[in-house]
Amino acid sequence: MKAAIYSAAAKAPGVFLHIKDVPRPQLKNGHVLLRVLACGVCRTDLHIAEGDMPPLQDELIPGHQIVGKIVEGGTMDLPMGTRVGVSWMGGVDGTCWFCQHGMENLCDQPTFTGYSVNGGYAEYVLVRADFTYPLPDEMDNVHVVPLLCAGIIGFRSLRVAGIQPGERVGLFGFGSSASLAIAILQSWKCEVYVATRGKSHRKMAESLGATWVGDEDVKPPVPLDRAVTFAPSGKVVVAALTSLRKGGVVAINAIHLDQMPAFDYDKLLWGERQIRSVANMERQDARDFLKLAHELKIKPQATVFSLDDANQALAEQSPPATTTLGAADQNPTNTLTAATDQPRSGTTRGN
Ligand SMILES: [Zn+2]
Ligand SMILES: [Zn+2]
Repeated sequence: MKAAIYSAAAKAPGVFLHIKDVPRPQLKNGHVLLRVLACGVCRTDLHIAEGDMPPLQDELIPGHQIVGKIVEGGTMDLPMGTRVGVSWMGGVDGTCWFCQHGMENLCDQPTFTGYSVNGGYAEYVLVRADFTYPLPDEMDNVHVVPLLCAGIIGFRSLRVAGIQPGERVGLFGFGSSASLAIAILQSWKCEVYVATRGKSHRKMAESLGATWVGDEDVKPPVPLDRAVTFAPSGKVVVAALTSLRKGGVVAINAIHLDQMPAFDYDKLLWGERQIRSVANMERQDARDFLKLAHELKIKPQATVFSLDDANQALAEQSPPATTTLGAADQNPTNTLTAATDQPRSGTTRGN
């Protein structure tokens, strides 16, 4: 099969991946072989290809937002031909303390699709059957892809923040993940207050129906029940905290923060306010989010590349030199935030 392969040993400037013919993966117990129909290109893939994330194997096929069709290993529950989505969480051990206590997102030995195992920049990919999500026919390959990373993690952030219907919610930073989350918040009849740097992001938030939109350092006009921060910046977390009512929660949707500035505990955190981080996802987050996205007909933008152009698709994940985004993101897509005007995601087609 054809695949785009990252190899730390074969790195050259601008060439992240090498298109090669490699053997098709052999079916393993508990797995299904997918013919890849589309695979998203995410900022995390760029971090892997640039060596910001340490390589875990000599040669790797990246890609963790996969839409594929089951061509081997079908079962009663997942018949041959079923179209499924696959995300960053490609498996858990099921035996560690966290798995045993209903916190599989915190598993001690997780499998990461397109990082600790080969991913979807290929014609075929082998994935764990119990980490696939069957997709409704109405959701087309290309447009479901951004939902599988930015979408699911954005949704999990709303859960971690504990958002209830009708609440006042702040979104601090407004890129791919936030622009998908706002549709969910609107369906919950929440008021959405967006504080973000960059005119184009503010415009996008307005066009998507935010109740209030302001610059990153402008305090929303009312105390917020909850807030989610999408920028890899500690300053933004403090800004979000400053906007909360007593008992409110800030959820941080970033794997990496530049630095957490000192802040006044008495004024900002006392009163049972909480700061929480968001780590990975549970399968139930993916199932629930995809169901909602289907019901709400959420359709993110996507640009299609052929697998042969994987290097170009990846290069476009690089933020413009003028932005100051931190290095890592988690599910990665959330760092698309400052990189583009519109929620979009590069997509390579398997064939
Ligand atoms: Zn575990
Ligand atoms: Zn991603």
